[in-house]
Amino acid sequence: MQKNNNISLFEGKIVCPRCDGNGLIYKGKITGLDTIIYICDECEAAWDEISNISVDTFSDLTLFLEKKGCPNEDVIDLGYVTL
Ligand SMILES: [Zn+2]
Repeated sequence: MQKNNNISLFEGKIVCPRCDGNGLIYKGKITGLDTIIYICDECEAAWDEISNISVDTFSDLTLFLEKKGCPNEDVIDLGYVTL
């Protein structure tokens, strides 16, 4: 797994850089696409790679799904990302 110096951890879980410590990042699967993404459980910021997680690179989940062309897909929670 790639190291990312922009993120901090709380008990091994990735702290969301966007909402400043309020949220933790979980792994989600977009059902229709079979695609893994990384989402904040608090503010729904989303990233497509762990190595991309930073405050400059997030998309809101709804926007993210629109960009992928699947605004109505569900996201399955696969649990928190631990490093
Ligand atoms: Zn957040």
